[in-house]
Amino acid sequence: MTQEELFKKLIAHSKEYGFIFPSSEIYDGLSAVYDYGQLGVELKNNIKRYWWDAMTRVNDNIVGIDAAIFMHPRTWEASGHVGAFNDPLIDNKDSKKRYRADVLLEDWIAKQDEKIEKEIEKGRKRFKDSFDEAQFRATNARVLEITAKRNEVHERMTEALNANDLEGLRQIILDCEIVCPISGTRNWTEVRQFNLMFDTKIGSVAEGANTIYLRPETAQGIFVNFLNVQKTGRMKIPFGIAQIGKAFRNEIVARQFIFRMREFEQMEMQFFVRPGEELKWYEKWKATRMSWHRALGFGDDNYRFHDHEKLAHYANAAADVEFRFPFGFKEVEGIHSRTDFDLRRHEEFSGKKIRYYDPETGESYIPYVIETSIGVDRMVLQVLSAAYKEEKLENGEERTVLSIPAPLAPVKAAVLPLVKKDGLPEIAHRIKDMLKYDYNIQYDEKDSIGKRYRRQDAIGTPFCITVDHQTAEDGTVTVRERDTMEQVRVHMDDLHTMIERNAGLRGLLDKLQ
Ligand code: ATP
Repeated sequence: MTQEELFKKLIAHSKEYGFIFPSSEIYDGLSAVYDYGQLGVELKNNIKRYWWDAMTRVNDNIVGIDAAIFMHPRTWEASGHVGAFNDPLIDNKDSKKRYRADVLLEDWIAKQDEKIEKEIEKGRKRFKDSFDEAQFRATNARVLEITAKRNEVHERMTEALNANDLEGLRQIILDCEIVCPISGTRNWTEVRQFNLMFDTKIGSVAEGANTIYLRPETAQGIFVNFLNVQKTGRMKIPFGIAQIGKAFRNEIVARQFIFRMREFEQMEMQFFVRPGEELKWYEKWKATRMSWHRALGFGDDNYRFHDHEKLAHYANAAADVEFRFPFGFKEVEGIHSRTDFDLRRHEEFSGKKIRYYDPETGESYIPYVIETSIGVDRMVLQVLSAAYKEEKLENGEERTVLSIPAPLAPVKAAVLPLVKKDGLPEIAHRIKDMLKYDYNIQYDEKDSIGKRYRRQDAIGTPFCITVDHQTAEDGTVTVRERDTMEQVRVHMDDLHTMIERNAGLRGLLDKLQ
């Protein structure tokens, strides 16, 4: 199965089993907007809980807030979003399709990287055991030629983006002979800047109404509350403020399912430190966040850091955590050293002093900030794409299984009476009632036990608890584990402890300590 096929199957599977639906589907959907179904919302809540607890429970010096989506319009002038939250866009005149100029170039660069990898594979096959990759990269004429062109384009693109040189960007697209994937032509318009913020009106009548924005990031809600939280919580630097909430961006090139949406959810934490200590904390948060991802067990090779060459106007260091999605390595999280940019600008724009008095140094200063910013939806996609598997079983049957890490699984256990009589459904209901306040549990009595197992595999339920005639005699049940399909006999009084040990969040959080 190619990665493209896998991705298509994943999208279909997510819909078929109630994880993710296109928004307002009966009206043919709304581009780049999605709804989470009955299982999607459970998975999403578990991911949020994992993040929230990893921030606010594991760390004594991080607290949470929940700020409003609407903020005073001056906020976005201060943050720089009104002036500079733009994407460079280019249209193909034949297909009338619109693209981000930088994304067209990044895709071209990724293609060159693939070409290089292909040459290396060829070399490896030809030279077998004596193959030396470093030497091959340094001497093979074809590899050298592609690498030189690739690096030149990369450098020109970075320069053009940094200098906001739109004509320069267009020229590189022409020089690389990039064609529109739809029309196949190179008939491109000029490159223009496009602001990504949605605006709306506040006030009951249009007259005198004010334009306000739907927040494009949750971070500013934290900055404007810095003093409120610091004072009321008696917080001492270094400390952090965490927040989970919706953000909105009028993304032009909305694609790849829930990877790039117009309405999405972020989990952001701003960590306030002494000026001059920010790069030490930046490194620490990079490592901490990578451990959070890796604790899920999707394989360390599937993650990498991508250090930014083009730094945002507010940052003095920035890196992305990238995950290997079916469509390649892409950003799931950003870690940014934002300097004192945001607090300083809010001080300027609001006219209110935003300072911290440091009792240890006796100084008053504007703190520096390290931000960790991750998309909930990209995490959902990460989990689903890592978990989706089609397996051939020993008996020749096939099964589709979502190997979701048990602490994140939407349903923790299914209780299945072997038959619909002899008092077994009643016992199964009693077991469900015993567990339901702590875990999301399903009861299922329809179809053969094999079919019921398959249904639970397909939604990633880690445990199937089967109630049979022996249960009525001695209180024991069969517990089948999803990934190994192994079965053990357990007393029903031990189920709670067993689920907690394997599927409780604690196991994951302990790995982070
Ligand atoms: P990209 O380069 O992919 O547009 P970004 O660098 O603009 O992302 P940030 O502004 O750093 O993203 O936002 C932090 C996180 O929010 C991202 O790492 C991503 O997980 C998430 N995110 C940003 N934009 C979207 C979107 N349109 N849809 C879903 N998640 C998003």
